[in-house]
Amino acid sequence: MAYIILNKNNFFNNLDIISKRTKSKDKIALVLKDNAYGHGLVEVAKMAQEYGIKKAIVRCQVEADMVKEYFEYILVLNEIPKSSSDKIRYTINDIKNIDKFPVGTKVELKVDTGMHRNGIDKQNIKEAISKVQEYGLILEAVFTHHRSADELTSEWFWQNENFKKIKKELAYMKHLKFHSANSASLFRTNSFDEDMARVGIAAYGCMDSFNKNGLKPILSLYAVKNSTMYLKKGYKIGYGGSFELEDDAIVSNYDIGYGDGFLRVCSNNYTTPNGEKLVGRISMDNSSFLSDKEHLLIFDDASKLAKSANTISYEVLTSIKPYIKRYISEDKI
Ligand SMILES: *Cc1c(COP(=O)(O)O)cnc(C)c1O
Repeated sequence: MAYIILNKNNFFNNLDIISKRTKSKDKIALVLKDNAYGHGLVEVAKMAQEYGIKKAIVRCQVEADMVKEYFEYILVLNEIPKSSSDKIRYTINDIKNIDKFPVGTKVELKVDTGMHRNGIDKQNIKEAISKVQEYGLILEAVFTHHRSADELTSEWFWQNENFKKIKKELAYMKHLKFHSANSASLFRTNSFDEDMARVGIAAYGCMDSFNKNGLKPILSLYAVKNSTMYLKKGYKIGYGGSFELEDDAIVSNYDIGYGDGFLRVCSNNYTTPNGEKLVGRISMDNSSFLSDKEHLLIFDDASKLAKSANTISYEVLTSIKPYIKRYISEDKI
C-alpha cells in the first residue's frame, strides 16, 4: 500500500519559525481541518502537543472530538453543536443562527471585513452581540478572514483597516479576544500583535506564495510497485494509449491513483523529485512510471506537484485519502 512519511523535524522547524512571528507558542492556533490538510489529524495533533501547541482549529464536531485530548482550546469553524463544551468554542457565521446554539456555548463571532463569504456584516455586529447575550451564549472572541493575504496587493491592507475599526469599537469589552491572521497574513507583518494566529499551510511547509521563509514541507507520499514490464519503442501506455515510448523502456506500475488523491490532471505531465517520469494516464488505483524501484517517492513538496496540476498545495494535500497510512519520521531528510 502507498504510504506517507511525516517529517517531525521539519514540522518542529516550521513551528519554531512561526512562533518567532507570533512571539509565543501559545499564540499559535494550529489549523487541523480536513484531516490536518491531508497529513493525518491525530498524527499531527500528537506531534503538535509534543511541541507544546495548546490551541487547534477544526472544521466540525467529529474532528474536535478526535483531538480534544491533545489541546486546551479548540475552535470549530463550521458546525452548530448539540451541547456546550468547556474546551471547544464554536463559530457564529450568520446572525440568523444565533438562536440555534445551546445555552452556555462558548462562541466566537466571525465578522465580514471584505471576503463576503460568510460572517456578520459590520453594521450588524452590535446587534449580534446583544443576541448572543440574549440567548445565553458566552462570547469569547471576534475574528475575521482575509480574502487575499497571499497576493501582494493593497487588499490585505484595507481589510486590516476594516478589522482595526471593529476592534476599536469593541475595545470596551475588555475580555474579548481578536484574531485575523492566517499563514500568509502572519508572514506579511513584522508587528503581529493579536491574541492568536490561525496557522495552517505554513505549519505544513507548503505556502505557495512569497518566499519559503525557511519553512519545509513535512509530508512525503510514497507508492509501492505492483508490477514491472519491459516495453518496446512505440508501445503506448495506459488508458487511451496517450503516451508512446520513444525507446525501449522499463515501466513499472505503482499503487497510487486518482482514487487515492493523486490528481488525474497530472497524467503525462509529472516527474517525481528523483526524476522518474509519469507515463500515460493516472488510473483510479494505479499509475505507471519509468522506474523499477520497489518504493517510489511520488512527492515531498506539494507546492511542486500543485504547479504541474495548475492548482494550489492545499488541494494536492487535502485530496490524499485518510486511509493511506501515515508514519512519523524523526530522520532528517
Ligand atoms: C483554513 C483557514 C485558516 C488557515 O489558513 P492557512 O492559509 O492555511 O494558514 C485560517 N482561518 C480560517 C478561518 C480558515 O478557514
